[in-house]
Amino acid sequence: MNLVLRGGTVLTMDPELGEFDRADVHLADGRIVAVGPGLSVPEASIVDVTGSVVLPGFVETHWHLWNTLLRGAPGGYFAACAGLGRSLTPDDIHRGTSLSCAQALRCGMTFVHDWCHNVRSPAHARAALGALAESGLRGRFSYGYGVGHRNDEPMDLVDLARLAGDWTHDRISLGMAWRGQGGSDPAVRVPPEVYRREAATARGLGLPISVHASGPRSARGQIAGLADLLGPDTQIVHADNASDAELRLLAETGAVVSLSPVSEMRIGYGFPRTRELLDAGIPVGLSTDTTMLTGKADPFATMKTLLGVANAAAGDEAALTPRRVLELATVEGARTMGLGRVTGSLRPGKHADVTVIALGDWPGDPAEFLVTAAQPADVRLTLVGGVTRYRHPGRPAGSAAVQGRDHGAQ
Ligand SMILES: [Zn+2]
Repeated sequence: MNLVLRGGTVLTMDPELGEFDRADVHLADGRIVAVGPGLSVPEASIVDVTGSVVLPGFVETHWHLWNTLLRGAPGGYFAACAGLGRSLTPDDIHRGTSLSCAQALRCGMTFVHDWCHNVRSPAHARAALGALAESGLRGRFSYGYGVGHRNDEPMDLVDLARLAGDWTHDRISLGMAWRGQGGSDPAVRVPPEVYRREAATARGLGLPISVHASGPRSARGQIAGLADLLGPDTQIVHADNASDAELRLLAETGAVVSLSPVSEMRIGYGFPRTRELLDAGIPVGLSTDTTMLTGKADPFATMKTLLGVANAAAGDEAALTPRRVLELATVEGARTMGLGRVTGSLRPGKHADVTVIALGDWPGDPAEFLVTAAQPADVRLTLVGGVTRYRHPGRPAGSAAVQGRDHGAQ
């Protein structure tokens, strides 16, 4: 592919490259080649994106993709997962994961972290992984355990090692979805010999690990309980009830955090401690978590909620800015996934993971628009590695049809 996105408002999310009221983005061979006004690329196809924002695709950092199939199930999140999750076949897992991937691309995500906590058999793991790979998204598949897995038994570490030994893929990497001492479900208490063995196995395989630290306030102390196991390869999910000492621990060990404010509040975990995490220098990414709680994949709702809660907590309209929230949703999210050099900004050399979002008649700051006013229906194009994976069924982008070969900049 050799493509120029012509005439959009461009937010590169790269501090050196900055933003352009009107510029072009040249993509070729799956990579970003150049960003700037009036690019002349004689052999490239042109997509007119006038009236749209061009920015890196959203980086989603923790999502249980399989359970989108269970949206609307009655009985509360954990009970519904435990009740229905046990009966799902590999084909069901494939369908649920595929549905989530379609939602992701439709709302401008180009990367997802599949936190798969219903690996009921090796076939279930491969069904989820297959759906993720087939979607065209970039992603991490974190191999977990099955719903209802016994607390005193490790996950299937033999199969994980087998998979990790065989796995080579240009877009999808592997990780471990780790229960830690119990994670998000207060009913789960994993003994040290089990959770330590699991973490050691992941590290022996060179896989990053991700663990929930959440649940009601009574479940405090989960991060401190894992103190000697934290490191730069560790992602903590939620951390809403982390103490100040635990935040210092995260900063010292280099662990990163994924926040999913919509699900965290919906289920009653509490409020994200966004300002405190950022002030402590802890890298933060944003996430969907589960559409059973959020209703849908919607990075715009995630960003807007995060902004509102942080500023409400601070009593300050400017405590967190839309531009900073947009960084968390893109370039900083990529950094938390270990992909800071690969995706998350429109820097030449990175993969061409790009989304195009219609600005409509918005008169002001595009970052303000994206965080407070935009919605998934405004997404016009999603490209992963330069391949168009979603195109709005109405008008693709701006006036936005492919308009043939470039004949030089106007
Ligand atoms: Zn989760």
